[in-house]
Amino acid sequence: MSSQLPLVDAFNRRITYLRLSVTDRCDLRCSYCMPERMEFLPRKEVLSLEELHRLALGFIDRGIRKIRITGGEPLVRRDVIELIHAVGRKLGNGLDELTLTTNGTQLARHAESLVAAGIRRVNVSLDTLDPGLFAKVSRRDQLGAVLDGIAAARDAGLKVKINTVALKGVNEHELPDIIAWAHGQGHDATLIEVMPLGEVDGDRIDHYLPLTAVRENLERRWTLVPSDLRTGGPARYVDIAETGGRLGFITPLTNNFCDGCNRIRVTTTGQLYACLGGSEKVDLRAALRSSDPEGRLAAALDTAMRIKPERHHFRIDHRGAQPAQARHMSVTGG
Ligand code: SAM
Ligand code: SF4
Repeated sequence: MSSQLPLVDAFNRRITYLRLSVTDRCDLRCSYCMPERMEFLPRKEVLSLEELHRLALGFIDRGIRKIRITGGEPLVRRDVIELIHAVGRKLGNGLDELTLTTNGTQLARHAESLVAAGIRRVNVSLDTLDPGLFAKVSRRDQLGAVLDGIAAARDAGLKVKINTVALKGVNEHELPDIIAWAHGQGHDATLIEVMPLGEVDGDRIDHYLPLTAVRENLERRWTLVPSDLRTGGPARYVDIAETGGRLGFITPLTNNFCDGCNRIRVTTTGQLYACLGGSEKVDLRAALRSSDPEGRLAAALDTAMRIKPERHHFRIDHRGAQPAQARHMSVTGG
């Protein structure tokens, strides 16, 4: 890209963190994320490995310091390790951190390659430790593979954070056990409020659980000591005295964190969404495939900075409400 100017939006927020989706496909069908009969994109729509690599380099030139590879399930894309290796060469040379969010089903196979490519931390999504409930929530009987993946990641030297979406009447009762388990294994844990993104089977209000209530409940059991730690994302952390572990809260509904937003997201078709909860976007694939890719990409990123909204307006407050955005989290990249 010709412009080397850092990415700063209209609200003077410096954008340094890219979430790059490498596929919208997934081997699970988590019920809060997508419907059972999810339709995936035709493969020809998706950016090639070379295009993803060029994009990543272009973003690093514009001051992106942290890239999270996500999806869909990033590890179901065949050439993802090659991409991670290629982008990983920029670590220490423009890029501070390359990370991955995964459901863990394929992690056992890939943990060592991820470390070799420069990844040091992974977020693994895990909503329950009960095999039957896992099969119900994710619609696939894969808890064993996920637990094997988490163990392999730890053995390979990766720092693991367990991400759990808090779901009323589903895993609500199990949240303290999941946290205690994660801390017992030496992992950080983070709880996430479910967000109204995309249609799912059922009404989100039935499962929305405000983390304010969860936190009160945890405070009756444990001593939560607020921490100043920031890992570049929206989580706010506490240390739990009794478990000796760290717990994050991602609270898009009960405690908006958009003021400090430093993130943008690119879908697997090269659409840059300026906000997870907004429809403002620019088409980087068209720019990449144009006769002047450098100029068009630079201009597209400048536009993205102008249109990035101040905040999202997620609400789950009545039955039958439309999602804030029609696109699913698996499309924009979690
Ligand atoms: N497949 C990978 C995984 O599950 O970790 C990466 C993509 S997934 C979309 C990223 C994260 O988004 C996961 O932690 C998942 O639980 C979360 N997620 C998906 N849909 C969500 C929703 N509607 N609200 C809140 N979190 C959601
Ligand atoms: Fe797949 Fe992740 Fe969505 Fe679950 S949350 S369906 S693992 S993309």
